[in-house]
Amino acid sequence: MPVPDLLDQLARAGPRGIEESPGSRAQVELCRQWGFQIQEKDNRFFLPFDSDSLVPVWIEQETPGIVWDRLRVEGFLAIGSTNEEGLARARGGDPGALLIYAETQTAGRGRKGRRWESPPGGGLYFTLVLKPAPDLNRWPLLTFVAGAALAQALIELGESEGFPARFAVDLKWPNDVLLGGKKAAGVLLETACSARGPAVVLGVGINVRPGCVPEELRLRASSVSDEAGALVARRKLLVRFLYFFQMGYSLFENGRHADILENWKRHSSMWDGVPVWIVEAEKSIPAVTCGLSDAGALRVRTVEGIVETILAGDVRLRRSR
Ligand code: ATP
Repeated sequence: MPVPDLLDQLARAGPRGIEESPGSRAQVELCRQWGFQIQEKDNRFFLPFDSDSLVPVWIEQETPGIVWDRLRVEGFLAIGSTNEEGLARARGGDPGALLIYAETQTAGRGRKGRRWESPPGGGLYFTLVLKPAPDLNRWPLLTFVAGAALAQALIELGESEGFPARFAVDLKWPNDVLLGGKKAAGVLLETACSARGPAVVLGVGINVRPGCVPEELRLRASSVSDEAGALVARRKLLVRFLYFFQMGYSLFENGRHADILENWKRHSSMWDGVPVWIVEAEKSIPAVTCGLSDAGALRVRTVEGIVETILAGDVRLRRSR
């Protein structure tokens, strides 16, 4: 269900608002049900400006153009999965620089077919469709670009004036963002092909508001607002992420792959010298992390002293008792 056009019309109209017209009342009521604070006076509707609401025009206007002249933004109230939609667009030959977001995903995906819980009312669930430089073997590095960009956006937010707390950000290989040791965001990179060549479909899910972390995950997962002790504005966080992501993406486009990994490592405590379990099928093997390869694979040393390279496996922290 796409975001009603009315939201963009209201955003463009600003304090003038728009006159009620046949059909607009139903759209207003729908938007209100989804939490948009639309006001009305003398048969006119207004959308007060804030930094939380996800409105395509506001996201477009606020996103700085660093590597994209213009980011096209398409919003959905509910969708199966933003990555699924992104894959369909990419297969249809989308030229890239497209952001698809949703207020909720009914079938949000993580790695290896796992589910990403995406309840309405407080998360950021979005996908970027991109056409990066063609060294496909290096495309997985964009997961690291996204993780580092989110870390940078959160750190900047935590250091901004009047903000109540600094974030204890830690990046867990390969795709998780932890806050205070709990997972608050994840990245899912997929690829698709069309007659216009291959494309990257990069999905990000961020728990922003308290309450958007399902009960059964609360021991291992948290939200940005819970960790901050204050409500964090979703669009502000999204726009700062898009700024830092573009900075990292331009490193990628310039072949500065080592710099991308250095950025990521700066925000991770786990890539070197940390005891982990390597989870393979039914068994877990103890090992110690010992760096990243040029392509971003994790190197681990087993108890036998053998160094193995893990491309996309499952790694769990081994905590001392
Ligand atoms: P992990 O490393 O945490 O085992 P993963 O990196 O292999 O997970 P992901 O693709 O990042 O897998 O995410 C899917 C997993 O994350 C799910 O299996 C679930 O345990 C957890 N999860 C699902 N939804 C959320 C959420 N909204 N917030 C935090 N964690 C979630």
